[in-house]
Amino acid sequence: MKFADLHLHTLFSDGTFTPEELVERASKLGFAAIALTDHDTVEGCERAAAACAAARMEFIPGTELTAEHEDTEVHILAYLVDTQNKVLLKRIAEFQSVRQNRIREMVAAINKLGVPLKADDVFALANCKSPGRPHVARAMVKAGLVANLDEAFERFLKKGRPAWVPKTKMSALEGVELIHQAGGLAVMAHPGLNRTDDIIPDLVDAGLDGIECFHTKHSTVMSERYLEIADEYHLVVTGGSDCHGFSKKAPLIGTVKLPYEHVERLYAAKKSADEKRRATAVK
Ligand code: AMP
Ligand code: ZN
Ligand code: FE
Ligand code: FE
Repeated sequence: MKFADLHLHTLFSDGTFTPEELVERASKLGFAAIALTDHDTVEGCERAAAACAAARMEFIPGTELTAEHEDTEVHILAYLVDTQNKVLLKRIAEFQSVRQNRIREMVAAINKLGVPLKADDVFALANCKSPGRPHVARAMVKAGLVANLDEAFERFLKKGRPAWVPKTKMSALEGVELIHQAGGLAVMAHPGLNRTDDIIPDLVDAGLDGIECFHTKHSTVMSERYLEIADEYHLVVTGGSDCHGFSKKAPLIGTVKLPYEHVERLYAAKKSADEKRRATAVK
């Protein structure tokens, strides 16, 4: 059997592996294909593609965008996008600047509570254009301000806690369109984790191409239900570990194995979307 992991992060966002380290692990685990889905960046794709080529593994370029629809936060995975697409890159640069400002706001909120964290220490640790809450948490652990990542999230960073700062989010409909104009497929990430079931019909109307049925945080029952939903709406099925490297526990890569037939369907959906776009362009 051939398998894939289509949800992976590197240190280009909040993962801890380099693209090369990630590919080496995927290769050792026997994966036939992987996708990179760093938050709000496609920067790691070139190196991951080169490492995959050397390891004779298929590589699918991607990213994970944060969006919202009717006050529900939804993560949208983009697959097989043109990583040079100007509109996508410009929008991603805006999301990155929002992330950087948000780090300063979170640190200011933490300082207000009398905890002496420095924004520059967070940026130095993150060392990437897409910093996020995990970097703040890691910087707090490093500075000895909390005992572990969980404590940082529980006391300061999770929704409702004093240093939680919302990200200005694009609408999910814009997200789907942004991915499509870059030649990619738009997939709803971990619906079981974000509880986004109710908005599936609206996103399907907007052109959603797929749904992440298999995910570390999905129970077997959940995965089965999302497979049924995929069937009902004719959506591509994806899955992945959402590995962030060495963050809290052992790396998650290898815990979710998407049967390769779904990767073939992803390619087929891309081909048919490209053909449709070409046909409309000619008209
Ligand atoms: P951000 O994009 O900055 O809001 O950060 C979201 C990321 O934080 C997710 O992708 C997870 O990797 C991580 N995360 C969210 N909640 C927690 C938590 N309670 N403990 C540890 N990591 C978390
Ligand atoms: Zn993350
Ligand atoms: Fe996510
Ligand atoms: Fe993710």
